[in-house]
Amino acid sequence: MNLILMGLPGAGKGTQAEYIVEKYGIPHISTGDIFRAAIKDQTPMGVEAKKYIDKGELVPDEVTSGIVKDRLSQGDTDKGYMLDGFPRTLQQANDLETITSDLNKPIDAVINIDVDPKLLVERLSGRFICKNCGATYHKLYKMPKVKDTCDVCGGHEFYQRSDDKPETVKNRLDVNIKMNTPLIDFYKNKNVLFTVDGNQSIEDVTNAITKILDKFTV
Ligand SMILES: [Zn+2]
Repeated sequence: MNLILMGLPGAGKGTQAEYIVEKYGIPHISTGDIFRAAIKDQTPMGVEAKKYIDKGELVPDEVTSGIVKDRLSQGDTDKGYMLDGFPRTLQQANDLETITSDLNKPIDAVINIDVDPKLLVERLSGRFICKNCGATYHKLYKMPKVKDTCDVCGGHEFYQRSDDKPETVKNRLDVNIKMNTPLIDFYKNKNVLFTVDGNQSIEDVTNAITKILDKFTV
């Protein structure tokens, strides 16, 4: 079973990825991880990628695709794999078509965990911090036991990191939505896209994913 896992930041991709690799016994291929490995092992593509990263430049698609190709050529992906964080662009998606067809490991399913962006803003911008002791709280998941009072030090003043502010989070999501939309259309046209309602509980999302993926296991 050859998969791509997609979802915006905060959609719960990490949790579902852990579940999928455990349940179906396929390797989790996260772009971040394979980049770090390629650079550490100084593979030709890793050396190439490092040149751009050291200059603070974006790694070109052909290099990123090369690193993915090297990874998908390894034997542990013969029984299946799950890509996470790749492809990010249409060029990469087209590269992946060539790679998976050359290796005879075509994509069976693209799982997109779809969550209302408004809910994602709430999830991702909920964190706030005690000014006095640095204890962290979250508007949805971890409020102080007594209103406006830090559980740890009794302080009453709180602040948000700029990364956690709603405007910043919204901008980050907009960038991701803009990148994901053409990819979603691309896989929809190939009839391999499965959209999972990510507004539900973690368990319900897991169940929905299982229902889809069980069709691909023999
Ligand atoms: Zn405190």
